[in-house]
Amino acid sequence: MPTQDRLVYKKVMQTSSCCVCNNSRENSKHLYFNCSFTKEIWSNVKHAIGLGRQVDHSNKEWCNLINMVRGKSQKAELIKVYICATIGYIWTERNNRRFNGMFSNPTVISNMLLRDMKHYFEVQVEELKDIKSLRVFANQIGLSFKYKKATTKQVRWLLPPTGYIKLNCDGSMNMEDVGYGGMARNEQGHVIFAFSGGGDVHSILFQELKTIQTGISLCIDLGYRRIIVASDSLRAIQIFKDIETSPWQC
Ligand SMILES: [Zn+2]
Repeated sequence: MPTQDRLVYKKVMQTSSCCVCNNSRENSKHLYFNCSFTKEIWSNVKHAIGLGRQVDHSNKEWCNLINMVRGKSQKAELIKVYICATIGYIWTERNNRRFNGMFSNPTVISNMLLRDMKHYFEVQVEELKDIKSLRVFANQIGLSFKYKKATTKQVRWLLPPTGYIKLNCDGSMNMEDVGYGGMARNEQGHVIFAFSGGGDVHSILFQELKTIQTGISLCIDLGYRRIIVASDSLRAIQIFKDIETSPWQC
């Protein structure tokens, strides 16, 4: 976007101060994240959708937010709309100030954004999956959606073939915590060992990969070489099989 620092760089204009707070150079990072004016908007929006009120805008916070909305879950899609709308409303306010001499305060802008998002979802969202986290989120943003009953699918754990052990692995993440755990069982279904762990890396992919790595290491330490790994993360399995490249290798 043609923020002032870019326009100054292209020699389109002389000044580069932020036209929202007049307190710093305008660039994308300042305008969208570090400006005191926009921080107040983020704080109001985050609070309204249940993501806390604190706005730090450190790289870590943004990594956490991006990890939270990664994937195609309906809740992630709804939060993505709020993030995009917040960026858009900040840009509109900046342009209104710069080109039309019109000023709004952060409370007015965030209230308008939240009201518009409610109207948008009322029109755009036909129904949501009937899961607790979505009901909580809908309640948080003050909307009542239609819910589609979840269908249940019977699945069964299968014994590993003779001579193998099966390693079941799973990673987990919510807004505050992350963790992983697993269990290894032999051909009779007897538990050989179980393990769990955590840490501060707020990435579900990291947790899925960490549990597989930890489980395999424990198997090897105990002298097992024929291991079947079971995980519900297709991406983690594809990375282990070298079908997909992990994000940090891109
Ligand atoms: Zn500013």
